Amino acid sequence: MKIAVLPGDGIGPEIVAQAVKVLEALRAEGAKIEMETAPIGGAGYDAAGDPLPEATLALAGAADAVLLGAVGGPQYDALDRPLRPERGLLRIRKELNLFANLRPALLYPELAGASSLKPEVVSGLDLMIVRELTGDVYFGQPRGIEVRNGERVGFNTMLYSESEVRRVAHVAFGIAMKRGKKLCSVEKANVLECSELWKEVMIEVSKDYPEVALSHMYVDNAAMQLIRAPKQFDTMVTGNIFGDILSDAASMLSGSIGMLPSASLDEHNKGMYEPIHGSAPDIAGKNLANPLATILSVAMMYRYTFADLATADRIENAVKKVIAQGLRTGDIWTEGARKVSCSEMGDAVVNALAR
Ligand code: NAD
Repeated sequence: MKIAVLPGDGIGPEIVAQAVKVLEALRAEGAKIEMETAPIGGAGYDAAGDPLPEATLALAGAADAVLLGAVGGPQYDALDRPLRPERGLLRIRKELNLFANLRPALLYPELAGASSLKPEVVSGLDLMIVRELTGDVYFGQPRGIEVRNGERVGFNTMLYSESEVRRVAHVAFGIAMKRGKKLCSVEKANVLECSELWKEVMIEVSKDYPEVALSHMYVDNAAMQLIRAPKQFDTMVTGNIFGDILSDAASMLSGSIGMLPSASLDEHNKGMYEPIHGSAPDIAGKNLANPLATILSVAMMYRYTFADLATADRIENAVKKVIAQGLRTGDIWTEGARKVSCSEMGDAVVNALAR
């Protein structure tokens, strides 16, 4: 198993170092893992004048999975757009054809107090959002800003081909099969033709998965229901822009951005795994960041790319154990808990992993 390790910027190197400790612990037990590190984002720009250096893309292309920290930082904000760190991230997703983005929102009972919603609304939450990542209004052509009738107009094109919808539908139904067998497809078919096609294709694909109960919801209602009663959902599937917004809202249900992993998969389950948060420049270099989202991203790597569910469960259980032991980084700390640093949290997970 070849893993390309791309720490990136800000807290990226600190949190990725903890996830690498977990991988090294598994390797010490005999897991056949090769890891190679390369720069991306601002670090890519500093090293090679490009947020996605050619050598980094080649390494990621040849790997079975990519582990990414985060990119970005204020020192890069004045760069021309194509040179900005975030461009490196968008390009690697597109180049590797990572079209299915999986974002779980899971609430550990001990952290219910960290959510902005009432504990009874979110306690026990275990939701998976599957977001299409390489199509939709973010990529559709034509797009631009031009002068029409004497004034500037801005325009983008919301576009999905049926093959794009079908492939993400198969991923989502496959995941729903392994979870609660309930899939909610989110769109805006009452207003948008693009959504009408999305819904039709979802219904067609559902015939291959008779065990999964498919439901449909308009995105405005889905936003409301996520806040009102999020536990009604098991697996959701939606397009790029709706998923962008809904998955961020869902992440806050679980209290801390430092706890949530993500996966982006291609057609062959090759994946890029990363925490959902950014590079947190405000706490970078201080050994304060929460590394659990990155460690849980390694668990997702085992689940989805390596199809080793036992190891995925083991990593997730090790994280549950350190949370139950009362260890907390600053972002999830509450009165009475033991405050630990980023590296102490990583060590604790490695200890909890020991058989
Ligand atoms: P952010 O997620 O980096 O930080 C938001 C807040 O959450 C900050 O207060 C930060 O300290 C805190 N935080 C984030 N991760 C944490 C962790 N693991 N442990 C403890 N606290 C954590 O978002 P931002 O401040 O809007 O963006 C900072 C930079 O990151 C920007 O350059 C932005 O473009 C970039 N960014 C990158 C990604 C990515 O690499 N996928 C995603 C979002 C933002």
